[in-house]
Amino acid sequence: MAQRYVRVKTLENTIHYGLLQLNRTVTLLDAPPWLGGKELELELEGDQYELLAPCNPSKIVAVGKNYPLHAEEMGTPPPEEPLIFLKPPTTLNAHNKPIIYPKQSHRLDYEGELALVISDRIFRIAPEEARSKIWGYTIANDITARDLQQKDEQWTRAKGFDTFCPLGPWIVREISVGAILKTFVNDETDPRQSASIKEMVFSPEVLVSYISQIMTLLPGDVILTGTPSGIGALQVSDRIRVEIEGIGHLENYIILET
Ligand code: MG
Repeated sequence: MAQRYVRVKTLENTIHYGLLQLNRTVTLLDAPPWLGGKELELELEGDQYELLAPCNPSKIVAVGKNYPLHAEEMGTPPPEEPLIFLKPPTTLNAHNKPIIYPKQSHRLDYEGELALVISDRIFRIAPEEARSKIWGYTIANDITARDLQQKDEQWTRAKGFDTFCPLGPWIVREISVGAILKTFVNDETDPRQSASIKEMVFSPEVLVSYISQIMTLLPGDVILTGTPSGIGALQVSDRIRVEIEGIGHLENYIILET
């Protein structure tokens, strides 16, 4: 089992990075692991913490139409250059937490995605350098108000509501090149989405390099690498689960805004 890096909140509301053990105990670190955090002699039992999103990025950079079959289902060819947009950090959400269905939308879609966590401050790096700047990998769900995305020329509203970026549950350092991503709704046994991450139009290294030509990426920043085909709508009270081989699964449920 790969090391699983988490971020947790204690019963006293303090926030720590840590290593999750198989018995659900968390060994605390003295800093984020990408900043050299070392293990402390402090452990939290399974009932002494709440899992948070596994990092606290300055920005979440997302990539649109990065799988050929998804571009096709959106009615367009894959873009010639990566198509990027931002999700505000206030979209961040954790495993097993609710996604809020906003009043302004009537169509809320899931988008299961592989997420990259950046290790260093980087600006204008080459793809060959990018591999060493990806500290680890986690799972994301790029929740999208599809009706608002179609209505607005900009995607900020459709992609930017609070709770619209479930991330986690943890970060692993390595992932296999052909890892399979699957998305399930409720108790369905057939996945709505199922694809290998090697089907991406632009690889993680190319994406990191491309984005770094535009903006400085900081340690702990997150890049969402795009969703495969099979997107679809969610209803209030649905449960949505994104699995990536070698990482685990990220599950959330939908509640109505009150
Ligand atoms: Mg997406």
